Amino acid sequence: MSVDKNAVPMREQPPEERKKNFNEVPLGYSEEEAILEANRCLQCKHKPCVSGCPVNIDIPAFIKAIREKEFQKAIDIIHETDFLPCITGRVCPQEEQCQAQCVVGKIGEPVSIGRLERFVADWEMERKIKGLIPKSSTNDIVKNGIKVAIVGSGPAGLTCAGELAKKGYDVTIFEGFHEPGGVLVYGIPEFRLPKSIVKAEIESLKEMGVKIITNALIGRVLTIEDLFHQGFKAIFIGTGAGLPKFMNIPGENLNGIYSANEFLTRVNLMKAYLEGEYDTPVLRGRKVAVIGGGNVAMDAARTALRLGAEDVYLIYRRTEEEMPARIEEVHHAKEEGIKFYTLTNPVKYVGNENGFVKKVVCQKMTLGEPDESGRRSPVPLEEYFTLEIDEAIVAIGTTPNPIISKTTPGLKVKKNGEIETDEWGRTSIPGVFAGGDIVTGAATVVTAMGAGRKVAFAIDEYIKTLK
Ligand code: FAD
Ligand code: SF4
Ligand code: SF4
Repeated sequence: MSVDKNAVPMREQPPEERKKNFNEVPLGYSEEEAILEANRCLQCKHKPCVSGCPVNIDIPAFIKAIREKEFQKAIDIIHETDFLPCITGRVCPQEEQCQAQCVVGKIGEPVSIGRLERFVADWEMERKIKGLIPKSSTNDIVKNGIKVAIVGSGPAGLTCAGELAKKGYDVTIFEGFHEPGGVLVYGIPEFRLPKSIVKAEIESLKEMGVKIITNALIGRVLTIEDLFHQGFKAIFIGTGAGLPKFMNIPGENLNGIYSANEFLTRVNLMKAYLEGEYDTPVLRGRKVAVIGGGNVAMDAARTALRLGAEDVYLIYRRTEEEMPARIEEVHHAKEEGIKFYTLTNPVKYVGNENGFVKKVVCQKMTLGEPDESGRRSPVPLEEYFTLEIDEAIVAIGTTPNPIISKTTPGLKVKKNGEIETDEWGRTSIPGVFAGGDIVTGAATVVTAMGAGRKVAFAIDEYIKTLK
């Protein structure tokens, strides 16, 4: 059977237009485009693509259903293991996961599994919003009245909550921020993941009976022990890795230098991008340096551009090949005019007499031997240059916030603050489980979801032993 080597492209807002707005960049497939793309799937019997998906979606089965125009069937197949398909279809690094295993990728572009997932998830979401199909079916759930607490409402916590609610548990999520969603709402910008979508996915969970208590920072307002006293039989910790790292170089505490987390939280969660409607302060720099090469750095750079920057410099110490960001995000950032300075590392910031950043001094690098991450390590050269800037955003990684580990005696953590668990998310305290970035360090949405799902099964097993 001959297959078209090229995937059906997805329409996008043109770069010149989109860099002035916060609307979503890729526009999604039409029905015809989705069916055309679904026809590129070879329906492999041994399903290699499924092994690349951390939540093991039956990919050929849902693609077959799209091909046959059975869209409800397609989304039902996805929902068996993925609670948030509108989200994973948009932000999964598919090129390293499901699509990396697709056999069509050996002769051309792999089947666009993520785009097809997004198409069918959006198809359902639109019909739910229009009231054409019931919002969610909770009739089959037999409630058991057993209380389980989830700490943190990112993808790990939401998925764990959903799986447990399906099994009949009385689930309450405690979230430190005033809105649930974790990085999905405070980190990933509107132009990559519209917040209305995250809200709608969270509404589906609430319809299943999941309660969400916001502004509830566990470790401060209540401890893990307090939750047990309140009658929760098991507790899942899915608090992510939201504490920013800095480089500790001279001048890093000048005004105008943000961590990417603070910058993106101000813009996304606190809506600073809706100027006039919200009064959240955020610096709108004209010449902005963003330090880092991951998704967070790309998001910060593209956000700074949309806030009106004339020049955005992305400074990364290795080459583009080693960048951990998704290829699509790098491509979009370049199209929008972000200027890449690779093999470059900032060594010093210089401020003016009022303490505002004005310059960043950079050192040129070369690549040496591979380090423990397997990537070739950057080696400094004796070459320097200076960029004039009025804002810098540091996106060089994050670590877990220690607030829970410090207030939970007996909870074992690793040196870097990640919680120690076994493969089922069991911590050193019976009844306390953990998953997502708090266990693995900064990873991906779908790996956090996979962990949330797995731990839900372990919690169910644990609670059965209590009876
Ligand atoms: P989080 O999403 O971090 O959620 C943790 C939640 O717990 C937060 O809401 C936090 O407020 C809450 N919390 C923390 N402490 C407490 C406490 N003590 N009490 C109560 N609540 C608490 N991944 C991808 O797959 N694709 C991408 O394109 C992508 N882009 C990203 C862009 C950015 C800017 C960032 C920051 C990350 C990105 N990631 C991406 C990574 C991905 O978002 C994370 O791996 C994922 O969200 C981790 O999920 P989680 O549920 O473990 O934690
Ligand atoms: Fe691929 Fe992510 Fe969907 Fe799994 S959830 S099939 S990895 S896009
Ligand atoms: Fe289809 Fe590719 Fe999966 Fe084969 S590997 S079933 S072609 S998506």
